[in-house]
Amino acid sequence: MGIRSFFSLFLLSVTIPYAMASDPSPLQDFCVAVNNLKSGFDKAGNTTNRIGSSVTAFNVDTLPGLNTLGISLVRIDYAPFGQNPPHTHPRATEVLVVQEGTLYVGFVSSNADGNRLFTKTLNTGDVFVFPEGLIHFQFNPTRSKAVAFAALSSQNPGVITIANSVFGSKPAIDPIVLSKAFQLDVNVVKNLQTKF
Ligand code: MN
Repeated sequence: MGIRSFFSLFLLSVTIPYAMASDPSPLQDFCVAVNNLKSGFDKAGNTTNRIGSSVTAFNVDTLPGLNTLGISLVRIDYAPFGQNPPHTHPRATEVLVVQEGTLYVGFVSSNADGNRLFTKTLNTGDVFVFPEGLIHFQFNPTRSKAVAFAALSSQNPGVITIANSVFGSKPAIDPIVLSKAFQLDVNVVKNLQTKF
């Protein structure tokens, strides 16, 4: 083995485990920072907003007992025809179960995989998984409310809502840039920027 291939192999062996890692393994049984349990999942979130949904999150910020444990949980309430708009979690895979109602859900694979859309209509008790980092959504296509719970493989999964990030950044991204990127008239971009 040449010195060059040895170093390539060495570099791979030290980088691959980190590249594939999720939250690091805990170094103790638990690590409770502050004792202030805020609430439970007993109350429905307020879905009176323009997207018709509400996410109640139990992550390390709201439930400090999750610190170092690599897991979190959310409750999502959907008004009739409400949706949890396209978003991504940079640090977690999400597994969702429908507790009540019907949801049309989906995610899109990455560029290298052809941006393929995977969707399913879920009824009460059905389960679906959104792989880490991929853009996904849920939509309630019915006249009745819906409720889902989702577990995420990080104590701090993070969330990036696509429309808010792209059209609602502060300060705003230059409309010329977004006009080209989305193949839209600049005025359409400016209008979208007023909404986010
Ligand atoms: Mn999600």
